[in-house]
Amino acid sequence: MRLPPGVSSSDFSAALARLEGAVGKDWVLTSDDDMETYRDSYSPFWHEEEDRIPSAAVAPDSVEQVQAVVRILNERKIPLWTISTGKNLAYGGSSPALSGSVMLDLKRMDKILEVSDKNHYALVEPGVSYFDLYRYIQDNKRKVWIDPPDPGWGSPVGNSLERGGGRTPMGDHFASVCGLEVVLANGEVLRTGMGALPGAKTWQQYKYGFGPYIDGIFSQSNFGVITKMGVWLMPEPEAYREGSVAVPKHDDLIPFVDTLSYLMNSKIVRGTMLLESPVLSYRQSQGGSVLDMPGGPSVQEMERIGAEKNLPYWQMLFHFWGPPKVIDAQWEYTKEKFSAIPGAAFRDGRAYRFPVELKDSDDVQRVYLGIPNLLVFALIAGGQGHMDFSPIIPMTGEAVFEVLQVFGAAYAEMGVPPKNQFFALPWTFFPRSFVLLFGLPVTHNIEQNRENRKVFRRLVGVAAEHGWGEYRTHVAFMDVVSNVYSWNGHALRRLHETIKDAVDPNGILSPGKSGIWPQRMRESRA
Ligand SMILES: Cc1cc2nc3c(=O)[nH]c(=O)nc-3n(C[C@H](O)[C@H](O)[C@H](O)COP(=O)(O)OP(=O)(O)OC[C@H]3O[C@@H](n4cnc5c(N)ncnc54)[C@H](O)[C@@H]3O)c2cc1C
Repeated sequence: MRLPPGVSSSDFSAALARLEGAVGKDWVLTSDDDMETYRDSYSPFWHEEEDRIPSAAVAPDSVEQVQAVVRILNERKIPLWTISTGKNLAYGGSSPALSGSVMLDLKRMDKILEVSDKNHYALVEPGVSYFDLYRYIQDNKRKVWIDPPDPGWGSPVGNSLERGGGRTPMGDHFASVCGLEVVLANGEVLRTGMGALPGAKTWQQYKYGFGPYIDGIFSQSNFGVITKMGVWLMPEPEAYREGSVAVPKHDDLIPFVDTLSYLMNSKIVRGTMLLESPVLSYRQSQGGSVLDMPGGPSVQEMERIGAEKNLPYWQMLFHFWGPPKVIDAQWEYTKEKFSAIPGAAFRDGRAYRFPVELKDSDDVQRVYLGIPNLLVFALIAGGQGHMDFSPIIPMTGEAVFEVLQVFGAAYAEMGVPPKNQFFALPWTFFPRSFVLLFGLPVTHNIEQNRENRKVFRRLVGVAAEHGWGEYRTHVAFMDVVSNVYSWNGHALRRLHETIKDAVDPNGILSPGKSGIWPQRMRESRA
């Protein structure tokens, strides 16, 4: 059996016996087969020493059991790593940042405690998946929609704590969190916001409570174990419609993004959009790259190809949810604003009135209709996985040009053909900024993984040199990313670690999460 770092085998065996007493023998797992299920199936360390492998797993089914587990591990300074549904693929799956950690697996805590269609929220435990919540809402005919990420098997708790994103107007998931229940490293349990008031009537309706608002420090963090979370939902809309806007020229991107930003910040267009470039996609299909590689075709040449093949330079599909007369007016206004760009072209897309019966064969991205699914895996079938490099950049056309040029030059300098990496143009998951998603392949070949890890590290460095930072990262790169968030001599990380030392002095909760290490392990930082 693998041991947690710094823990003797007798101490570990004694702790396991006490864990069995707390949660039942069946829910303390130590076999190699069981540990396999907690490995990152998209690990960039296949067949290498650094692959993160836990020592054991424990699966409590109540907050009292979580408290007992944490107390037992705290007494012996045994590190643990918390997961809700453990589907954090592309960012580490279920695996811990520190090999030998005990997995605190909360899948058995799967109660949906409340769904309100008067104030549009849910209160859930960590093991509730998007599929579970969707089914509950359907079965109980509640007039609310969830906002699933692309893979529906994850959880509102795990995904929101990672500050993940979906596609509807509720797509910024942590922004929809309202009220947490948290178990601290010493086993104490607290409730945030209005939940601090005994008998609170508005825990899921009002976020801030009284005094400092602290929910944010439990996201992407290792300060506590979340055992309940309130999540705001969208009232079931009457209708949905789509419409696309395309513009012909390279430089049209600047007024295009300015208009997008105005419409988004005015809440006339909502939800998550992807910037597309049919002409750059064509270049990619011919063996080129979406990125602006040195020595590649000029803008004039691409515009000529676009005109010849009737491919716009830029386009975006917009989504509207709400009463038909409201969303028709939003789409009309959207077209009016973009009409200021010469040559702008518009196309109506799909339209639905709810409730709607969809057929399997219907060509619609179900996530935009709040329906969880796993179809995204069909789109990326064939590979052995990927890890996401996901920097945040300004929401301006100028920034997009700079990004294409800077990363194009970086790939050229590294001598790596960018065509085996998927590169998406910016997404609008979060207001006022774009997110880029580069999928760097993961294979079972040690050399290729080493190469891809090198590429990843270089991309983080290049981004930081230009003032762009990741919104979230894979467990393998948490130190690398944390290292570049270094303003004023790492003042923010020093505060994070001051809090860590205060709330978790034995450093047992998820050591290394987001580059935050407890005092006794700080020298492990990469
Ligand atoms: C093809 C593909 C598409 C994807 N698309 C999206 C997408 O559209 N949007 C998106 O956001 N992500 C996406 N992802 C990434 C990922 O799959 C999802 O974010 C997924 O929901 C995360 O897994 P989970 O919900 O099971 O969280 P978990 O794996 O349970 O948790 C994630 C992390 O949060 C912390 N944590 C979890 N629970 C707790 C707790 N109770 N207390 C304290 N800390 C906790 C832990 O550090 C944990 O490792 C995609 C991945 C792939 C492979």
